[in-house]
Amino acid sequence: MRGIRMNHDVVGTVISYTSLRNKDRRVKVPKPAPPEWKPLSRMRTHEQVVAEIENRLDNGSLKPGDRLPPERQLAEALGVSRGAVREALRILEAIGVVEAGTGSGPSSGSVIVKDSTAGMGMVLRIHLQLASFTPDDLVETRLMLERLACRKAAGVASVGDIANLRTLITQMRGTHTTASYNDLDAALHVEIAQISGNGLASALMAALREALRQAMVSAFERLEDPASMMETLTNEHEAIIDAIAAGEGDSAADLVAEHILNFYRAVGVSDPEWAD
Ligand SMILES: [Zn+2]
Repeated sequence: MRGIRMNHDVVGTVISYTSLRNKDRRVKVPKPAPPEWKPLSRMRTHEQVVAEIENRLDNGSLKPGDRLPPERQLAEALGVSRGAVREALRILEAIGVVEAGTGSGPSSGSVIVKDSTAGMGMVLRIHLQLASFTPDDLVETRLMLERLACRKAAGVASVGDIANLRTLITQMRGTHTTASYNDLDAALHVEIAQISGNGLASALMAALREALRQAMVSAFERLEDPASMMETLTNEHEAIIDAIAAGEGDSAADLVAEHILNFYRAVGVSDPEWAD
């Protein structure tokens, strides 16, 4: 498990130093009770395999695009059964961390994915179905990310970046289906996040869009006049891009928030009350 590891040596040093100082002042410090003995958590073998791969990703010895050794070789190297390795790979594949290898031989090992968006999107979507969080939670989080992305992008966007965004606008004007419009819309918002330079914001945004895709397309289709909604949205996109191009971050952030809220309210997916 990842996290901040307590350095007991350092803590020990600090405590003894503090005790010495207090002794000088003749203040008695109660000795802290020794930590209780607790049963060790029993990790199943395949969980240990997952943890080992996670450790290697954490310390950089495994990187996106790297190929893992073939199943049999990995099992031998780790001293576990092939079944445990297979189970671990199945879990990592299900959460979108590895892509299964095919065939046999040295190039048959699973590959660490380069783009985590699809995996993150799937996890968010399933948890949304489980009601671990609500559409309002997703929309509120999207609002925060989008405001941040627009504000930052306005400070750094190059002429080429703005040209790419405007190309998406041209494509939007030529699109007539709600599904393809939604994809271009997602592409534009993710592109703005990429321009902002915050890789986590852009990965999260892409995952949120992936999770919300079906709900948004269905909601779009229930509108009386989807074509006029598309036109309104495209005009709003243009205004956002103009603000980013002019370096007006606050204005771009307000415009994107308004754009998002107007859409969700119009289609009835979400109406977070605090947002006004
Ligand atoms: Zn949009």
